[in-house]
Amino acid sequence: MFVLDSHCDTPSLMIRGLDIGLDNDKGHVDFPKLSAGGVDASFFALYTSAELTPEQALARVMEMLAAIRDALDKYKDKAALALSPSEALSNKSKGLFSILLGMENGSPIQKSLSLLRLFYKMGVRYMTLTHNGDNEIADSAAEGKRWGGLSPFGIEVVEEMNRLGMIIDVAHASDLTFNDIIKYSKSPVVSTHSCCRALASHPRNMTDDMIKLMADKGGVIQINFYPVFLSDSFARDYSTRGELAFPKPTAEDVVRHIDHAVNVAGVEHVGIGTDFDGIEVTPYGLENISKLPLVFDLLIKKGYSEDQIEKIAGNNFLRVFNEVISNSLSR
Ligand SMILES: [Zn+2]
Repeated sequence: MFVLDSHCDTPSLMIRGLDIGLDNDKGHVDFPKLSAGGVDASFFALYTSAELTPEQALARVMEMLAAIRDALDKYKDKAALALSPSEALSNKSKGLFSILLGMENGSPIQKSLSLLRLFYKMGVRYMTLTHNGDNEIADSAAEGKRWGGLSPFGIEVVEEMNRLGMIIDVAHASDLTFNDIIKYSKSPVVSTHSCCRALASHPRNMTDDMIKLMADKGGVIQINFYPVFLSDSFARDYSTRGELAFPKPTAEDVVRHIDHAVNVAGVEHVGIGTDFDGIEVTPYGLENISKLPLVFDLLIKKGYSEDQIEKIAGNNFLRVFNEVISNSLSR
């Protein structure tokens, strides 16, 4: 089975000194934990806060890329960069973990398609258009006031990402931005780390209609482990009591969201994007990436077949990734 996590924020810790080769207490993700969790590939997010200026965001992303390249040089025997599904599979056959690159927030491209192309050349294979703020490209789920969806430049970004073969990630997009992306993208799109709004009403989550629209286009929703996105009652308690909030969502809640998305869109359109190292609170039983197999155990208990679990574990995301690449080549 090929296990892929489509979103972790580990580079944000790496630029502050995290050594990914060691079993760290503070982080959720490092090579020992990935290996214990049976993970074959993770997208490392080049995340920048909406509070940074585009210039600051660009500098931050370069620092993260540098930290990842340093770690890859240091741990050649453990991991390698992958730029495509076939490279990720070939890394696995050599006993290497694959790091893939995703950019979280399009702000670092500075309103320049040329910079977008450069990031692709540097290995970035998906991009969320925004983080928690509207930007030059699109409106975000957190604000959603500036453009009413994609900006005119944002439409060009979508078209250029299609042409390049860079996956469009709808995570953090406002509902109107989502609709525009569905309208303008000629390739399947994904959400690398969102949950189901039918089960938890956070605006970062996707409605059943959105999940269906994305699936109709061939895409995939990768379920997030963030307790605030998993449960409304926890989210309410957490907003007032923080760390003391109770009861904490569990691995069963993650599986509830996976199962809901499967019922809405089919088992071909669901996967896992933990958001580890980007979430300050984790579900009970899923404290870090080494615990991931618990999710698959629970899916088996629920009656999922081996083939279905393999799809959720990574094959669905790899299928979309391949399709985005082959669409770009046929253009
Ligand atoms: Zn995020």
